[in-house]
Amino acid sequence: MDKMIHLTINGIPVSVPQNTTVLEAARLSGVEIPTLCYMKDKNEIGACRICVVEVNEGRGFRIVTSCVYPVSEGMQVLTNSAKIQKARKTTLELILSTHNKECLSCVRSTTCELQKLCREYGTDEHAFEGFRPTYELDTSAAHLVRDNNKCILCRRCVAACEEQFVAVLGPNDRGIDTNIGSAFNLPLANTSCISCGQCTVVCPTGALTEKDDTGKVWAALADPTKKVIVQTAPAIRATLGECFGMEPGTNVEGKMAAALRRLGFYKVFDTDAGADLTIVEEANELVERVKGGGVLPMITSCSPGWVKFCETYYSDLIPHLSTCKSPHEMLGAVIKTYWAKKEGIDPKDIFVVSVMPCTAKKFEITRDDENASGYPDVDVVITTRELGRMIDRAGIRFTLLPDEEFDSPLSEDTGAAVIFGATGGVMEAALRTANDWLTGKENAEVDYTAVRGTAGLKEAEADFAGTKIKVAVASGAAAAKVVMDKLAAGNPEGWTFIEIMGCPGGCVNGGGQPYQPQYIRDTVDLKAIRAKALYDQDRGMTLRKSHESPFIKALYSEWYTEGFGKGEAHHALHTSYVARPKYVQQ
Ligand code: SF4
Ligand code: SF4
Ligand code: SF4
Repeated sequence: MDKMIHLTINGIPVSVPQNTTVLEAARLSGVEIPTLCYMKDKNEIGACRICVVEVNEGRGFRIVTSCVYPVSEGMQVLTNSAKIQKARKTTLELILSTHNKECLSCVRSTTCELQKLCREYGTDEHAFEGFRPTYELDTSAAHLVRDNNKCILCRRCVAACEEQFVAVLGPNDRGIDTNIGSAFNLPLANTSCISCGQCTVVCPTGALTEKDDTGKVWAALADPTKKVIVQTAPAIRATLGECFGMEPGTNVEGKMAAALRRLGFYKVFDTDAGADLTIVEEANELVERVKGGGVLPMITSCSPGWVKFCETYYSDLIPHLSTCKSPHEMLGAVIKTYWAKKEGIDPKDIFVVSVMPCTAKKFEITRDDENASGYPDVDVVITTRELGRMIDRAGIRFTLLPDEEFDSPLSEDTGAAVIFGATGGVMEAALRTANDWLTGKENAEVDYTAVRGTAGLKEAEADFAGTKIKVAVASGAAAAKVVMDKLAAGNPEGWTFIEIMGCPGGCVNGGGQPYQPQYIRDTVDLKAIRAKALYDQDRGMTLRKSHESPFIKALYSEWYTEGFGKGEAHHALHTSYVARPKYVQQ
């Protein structure tokens, strides 16, 4: 039990464990101190100086940086005195002196943490005019744009990228010339960035944003020669509502389908159907590897951020990757082959838009071997945030929409597909099917709770009528590194099957998910709340195993008649990987 420290915050007595910082003590007592660089346990560097407070430890009040200053017995803290308000306002005005102030059209307007503070403190954006360095935009990568003219040097992105064990972002140069970038200021596309987008989620300003592909979608929707099909990933239903002020974890599947129809999409499909397809192909691949002496453990391949991490940092272990395409690529392939044939539409006239939680999917569609019909399986990927902006621009009042259904048949799904959006979900879905297939009977067990939860690394043992399989689930590239180092050391844990997701917590916490201010990210377990919406939906569904899906049964009886992983199914639904060069880290 930690010793308790007694202090006052704004005159109110407070007791907190020793070694607590003043900032955390204030939070524990219900007082929010503004921050721009702070990320709890990840970026506690006192760089932005916005979190300054006055403290008196017996020698009169003085200003300290609350995010790194520990409480002491009898301390008096003032978080909002006139002196503190003036200090914060001046700091904001100094930040603005080197800032490209384009709030009117900035993609972060209304979600920008700097803009919000400037409004609250009544800053004069021209208080300090002088030399302002200018930077060229880095648009080299498929997934994000770096605009250092809006960077406030808070280094949150540096911490996020280090947490991913990629560390391609860091400070370059010194003094007024300090700027955030890669080593030797290489364009991001020429670095070992895995495209996860975690840096865009934590950036408080418009300095790091996903590459905006909404223009391509608007253009396709306006093209009378195109049938524009949209599909949405499992995780989107649990997060899109946040773009419209709804509580995190609100399942908005029905309103989302209604909004997409009102945007003018020809068909509104659910990537869940692709997730079920991924599971039957992946479970079949696992069973074949187990029975046929293939490379084990097999590792899931549905997270393009993870796949790029493996290709870059563990290219020797690429044979462990399942060759299955990710769910939206599989569904795109099915749309442009099976569905196109059924509907009598030339695949060249079909334009597939995927709404994904993930910026890495923007990179994924540029990979080779993702074009089963001879045309790209998916033409454009937009993130949850981009879809939110499209709905806003179209004047659709999202919260007032009725619930509508996805279009048939490429949306028929099972509970197994819904939980793909959470870490452990793909493993659980695969175990539900593998259990039935390995034992040759319909098993009642569907809830594999040992692989649930937001821990970075989880292990479990599945018992399929005496056949025991050890599995592991990792989310976030740092946890992936732990797993891969063990594989490189000979797999001492004896794992047979591993799920890895590139983003911590899986897709519900993907790099394209709605912005939440850092104080929410520090104090609310968004990963767990968003995942709960998916597990709740799964629990209420009649069909909870992918191989029971009517869509899957029809697809293999009508189209992939040679069976799982064979012939046309293998051609359309599987892909290949390449070793990628590893560039210097920051
Ligand atoms: S980053 Fe924020 S303050 Fe800067 S232009 Fe964009 S909205 Fe305005
Ligand atoms: S996208 Fe991911 S890997 Fe790339 S710079 Fe951002 S955090 Fe680092
Ligand atoms: S790019 Fe964004 S997160 Fe990174 S230092 Fe600049 S403002 Fe901070």
